[in-house]
Amino acid sequence: MTRIASTSAVNLAKKLHDTGIRHQALLKVISQTPRELFLDDALAHKAYENTALPIGQGQTISQPYIVARMTELILQNQPRKVLEVGTGSGYQAAILAQLVPELYTIERIKGLQIQARQRLKRLDLHNVSFKYGDGWQGWQNRSPFNGIMVTAAASTVPEALLSQLADGGVLVIPVGEETQQLMRITRHADRYSSEIVETVKFVPLVNGELA
Ligand code: SAH
Repeated sequence: MTRIASTSAVNLAKKLHDTGIRHQALLKVISQTPRELFLDDALAHKAYENTALPIGQGQTISQPYIVARMTELILQNQPRKVLEVGTGSGYQAAILAQLVPELYTIERIKGLQIQARQRLKRLDLHNVSFKYGDGWQGWQNRSPFNGIMVTAAASTVPEALLSQLADGGVLVIPVGEETQQLMRITRHADRYSSEIVETVKFVPLVNGELA
């Protein structure tokens, strides 16, 4: 499907380039993805501001800079299969789905998952599999993944996600409670190396019943 870039989305991609995002294919996808589609009508006028916004149920769509930064980190090893934890509005999933062959995404709030699924369908993105479940457990029977991106802050790095990484795979995850660090963890066979990317602010990766 041919996508039309709106002026506002093109300007957002330019702003992201100015803040240091250099992945050309990623910037192009951002310039052609209508972020307003992932927001309530009342917030649509803010769709191209570089800020996080509420999406209902106490959750947020991440700031475009963070979406771009995390996507850039995941794309570094040219992943074939990627898992996203925290589908939320579906915006991050829509960006990833245009850049990787297979995307898997998990959400624990049913209402958000239903809306996200409809939005991706509307954008003609069909390489995405949705799971209603607990991201702490990952998605064992679809693993291993070349990249895993967690879009909620975990108190500790979930063991299941480490074990579901392919060799050479990368886990990008915010870790912490009040103060959170975005971590990039890379698997080398049975060894993992990790580094801190930057300080971030995400809603918590909930440890509890599905909603
Ligand atoms: N990637 C999303 C950001 C959503 S905010 C976007 O582009 O809009 C984080 C999301 O993680 C919320 O929707 C929240 O419900 C979900 N979440 C929190 N804890 C979770 C868990 N344990 N398992 C799955 N999803 C979880």
